[in-house]
Amino acid sequence: MKRKDLETRRRFLKKSSFAAAALTLSSGCSEGVSNKNLDYSIPKNGFHGKSENRRNWSGDIRSGKVIFVAHCVLNQNARIVDAADFPAMHDQLLDYIQKAKVGIIQMTCPETYCLGLGRFDVRVGLEHPAGMERLLRLIDDLIFTIQEYLFQGMEVVGIIGKEGSPSCGVNQTWYNESGHGEGQGVFIRELKKKLRNNKLDIPVIGVADHRQNEAIEWLERELFQS
Ligand code: SF4
Repeated sequence: MKRKDLETRRRFLKKSSFAAAALTLSSGCSEGVSNKNLDYSIPKNGFHGKSENRRNWSGDIRSGKVIFVAHCVLNQNARIVDAADFPAMHDQLLDYIQKAKVGIIQMTCPETYCLGLGRFDVRVGLEHPAGMERLLRLIDDLIFTIQEYLFQGMEVVGIIGKEGSPSCGVNQTWYNESGHGEGQGVFIRELKKKLRNNKLDIPVIGVADHRQNEAIEWLERELFQS
């Protein structure tokens, strides 16, 4: 950016933040200003959607559509040793989602969250009571977020797992050194249980690293043909 452009932008930003502050001070309960009387306590089930918190989102350019995506689709550095298939991310799939104007919510990597980056024996670790406790905590947070987007009237297009993973596999998973094939990863299995328990009908599909076109075709049908 040229020096002159930079100066103009700085002046604009300064001006607009002063204007916003002035507006806030002069209009006690305008949109975007929190009301001290609102109850933000969170009940035990973790969902705090209340009618007074429901907002109108139609005043700007946002698409109102989001998709939840396995962490490593956006960050291959979370993969277990020797398992990254790309330098950084699934470019083809992400390029499609971006062009389709769907917001991406990157799910936390369940293996990293429960077992760390240098993990071994993933399935054993996740099925262990200590691993399962952390995993269920993570899934609770996810359910909370899904419910909030739905409560606010947005569309949750789907959840994209990662085929072949012992955690995020949807149709194909890894059991141990001598076994992999059809089946679900531990995270996806538990997530689907929680979705059912909460009556959340969100499609869950898996992306295979070298068949991203299949996930794209699914998205195309979901977004534009249904
Ligand atoms: S656990 Fe899931 S998100 Fe994490 S690296 Fe494996 S497939 Fe990716």
